[in-house]
Amino acid sequence: MSTLKIAVQKSGRLSEKSLQLLEECGIKISNGERKLKAVAQNFPIEILFLRDDDIPQYVEQGVADIGILGENEVWEKDKEVKIIQQLGFAGCRMSLAIPKDEIYTDLNYFEGKRIATSYPKILIDFFAKNNISVFIEEISGSVEIATSIGLADAVFDIVSTGSTLLMNGLKEVATVTKSEAVLISNPNLTPENQAILDKLLFRMQAVREGKQNKYILLNAPNSAIEKICSLLPGMKSPTILPLVNKDWSSLHSVIKEDDYWEIIEQLKNLGAEGILIIPIEKMIR
Ligand code: ATP
Ligand code: MG
Repeated sequence: MSTLKIAVQKSGRLSEKSLQLLEECGIKISNGERKLKAVAQNFPIEILFLRDDDIPQYVEQGVADIGILGENEVWEKDKEVKIIQQLGFAGCRMSLAIPKDEIYTDLNYFEGKRIATSYPKILIDFFAKNNISVFIEEISGSVEIATSIGLADAVFDIVSTGSTLLMNGLKEVATVTKSEAVLISNPNLTPENQAILDKLLFRMQAVREGKQNKYILLNAPNSAIEKICSLLPGMKSPTILPLVNKDWSSLHSVIKEDDYWEIIEQLKNLGAEGILIIPIEKMIR
């Protein structure tokens, strides 16, 4: 039987969330000591633990069929791989920063400047598009110290809170792009592996929808049920159960996570009581 090989980051910012995502999809992995490989016990998938820089190449070559990594690495490596899903974690931006005492005007500030980065391709493409010529100093890490040691006039790096830049006397002056973790795939999967991937995507969808929605239970006077139902359409329509007090009913439905604070106010105004909001683990429409 075929197994789908998935590459995840061995250790770093993406590792824990990548494994958590697989676990939420019901995939059990036992790999206490973090070997190079692990096989899932209850799903035809094998996990390869790699450096994130290497994942695009391995997926292009078919050493791994799919992989989880930051979109920034996918753009930078520019391999023949397909982005099949945004995963909603490890969000960050890729920004240009300069010493904090410098006066910044606009992008033309960078004309003729030396910029240190670990992402030369993304940066070259960006400045070419803006018709600005810059000199790029490619370094593999600790980009934020490049200006203070005299290697460059500016830096281009990943930023999430901006505190690393501040600590190094830099200020962020322009965002080039935003990135988050994505699922990538080899463009030529065998039909067997495509079928396993489709199963995995179905589970991911159920997990994602579960997270985006809440189960809501409430008691309401029967006279308000109609109005409340129009506020809470649910997956098909709300469930209504009688209470012992026959003027009241219990109503169950599903509500979008983003909407519920606003709707709760309206429900209270309509006379709803005993409102419970409960997390949903998986949701299949
Ligand atoms: P590896 O050893 O696997 O090459 P790494 O040092 O390149 O690891 P990490 O620092 O673990 O990578 O970051 C992995 C990814 O996490 C980044 O490529 C980026 O997509 C995302 N990320 C989110 N926030 C940040 C941040 N503040 N700094 C760096 N990366 C971030
Ligand atoms: Mg890396």
